[in-house]
Amino acid sequence: MNQLWIRNGLFVTMDDKAPVIEGHMVVTDDQITYIGEQEPQNLSGQVQKMDGKGLAFMPGLINAHGHAAMSLLRGYSDDQNLQVWLEQKMWPMEGRYVASDTKAGTALAIVEMLRSGTTTFLDMYDRMDEVAKVTEQSGIRGILMRGAIGLCSEQEQQAKLEEAIAFALEWNGKADGRITTMLSPHAPYTCPPSFIEKFVQAAHDHSLALHTHMSETLREVEQNVRDYGVRPAEHLHKLGFFSRPALVAHAVHLNDEEIAMLAQYDVSVAHNPVSNLKLASGVARLPEMLQAGIKIALGTDSAASNNNLDLFQEITMAALLHKGVSGDPTVIPAYQALKLGTSSGAAAIWKSKEIGMLKSGMKADMIAIDIDQPQFFPLTDIVSHLVYAGNGRDVRHVWVNGRQVVANGVCTMLDEEKIRREAQASFERLLNG
Ligand SMILES: [Zn+2]
Repeated sequence: MNQLWIRNGLFVTMDDKAPVIEGHMVVTDDQITYIGEQEPQNLSGQVQKMDGKGLAFMPGLINAHGHAAMSLLRGYSDDQNLQVWLEQKMWPMEGRYVASDTKAGTALAIVEMLRSGTTTFLDMYDRMDEVAKVTEQSGIRGILMRGAIGLCSEQEQQAKLEEAIAFALEWNGKADGRITTMLSPHAPYTCPPSFIEKFVQAAHDHSLALHTHMSETLREVEQNVRDYGVRPAEHLHKLGFFSRPALVAHAVHLNDEEIAMLAQYDVSVAHNPVSNLKLASGVARLPEMLQAGIKIALGTDSAASNNNLDLFQEITMAALLHKGVSGDPTVIPAYQALKLGTSSGAAAIWKSKEIGMLKSGMKADMIAIDIDQPQFFPLTDIVSHLVYAGNGRDVRHVWVNGRQVVANGVCTMLDEEKIRREAQASFERLLNG
């Protein structure tokens, strides 16, 4: 039994009953076993003590939508509209990817995410075995799925479906339970209805949740109406998509009826404010979705449309953007914004019993932020400071499942220098075709 006792720390628990505690926390193996103002009693066995002075501890952040391997394409196509960016820039480069590129891009992304405080990431891509292997090695928690584009023959569609199912069954629960799998047709505009229906059926057969991109751009919504006579949310509804727990990314262009309809089902939304702004996709109706009771998590989307994977930036953006758009500075207050990246995000990916709070019985997924820096002074409201003044570069230590995976700003399980070198070499090879 390994025990870690953090003494004299400032804990931003994200538990509504006691959101901020000054005191002590004990981690036993992979779990938080004590948090409170008093010193813990009855500690036995080997206890590692840590002085929490100058640090703020909080739950690790949850990045609920992304494509880690696309980190290799960071900065390769900026300031383009989505269709040009995707079809003329991303897809040709991605078409040249081999397994080592997926591995290199994913490792680069995981280093960046861990160092900036993300302890759980969702990844929709292909060659997912490579993604799962790096996830396992790095110590991060991953929600992984093979994203399938159905713009191909029925035979190829079938092969992708089978690959997606095989991956989901092989890796679900692996890496000490750190890996969870889902099924994911890429989007209504890249998957024919019959292909989406097969994913829905497979999700039922294997008790898996579903993920897809939905209503990211106005153009995509209009095309859906032209092709199928209905908007994407109703289209997915008709295909049975919401008969399983489902997470949809973006949901930028929703009308009142769609918001009301999604709220009736176990549908969560991954809100990607920075990517939506960069690609000028629009602004999701976050206050209205929250008002309707839809569970919301935050995502970065890939580093090719962001261009970083710092979830603190999404938290800050979620807090600022919706104030500006609504003209109401009281919407998405700091604590609610921070919840989107932690406890609410955990609920949106059906993991609120395990992660998203610092609370006894939860998995020890947590981060320590260096608050001995000018942007955190004076010490007034730590939640406000984390949302409006801090960012991912303030993260000093990270633990996932009780294991320290970042110490003093450096990943403990990965060779960062080698990862940067391999990512550069992969990008240059992709560029030269
Ligand atoms: Zn995406």
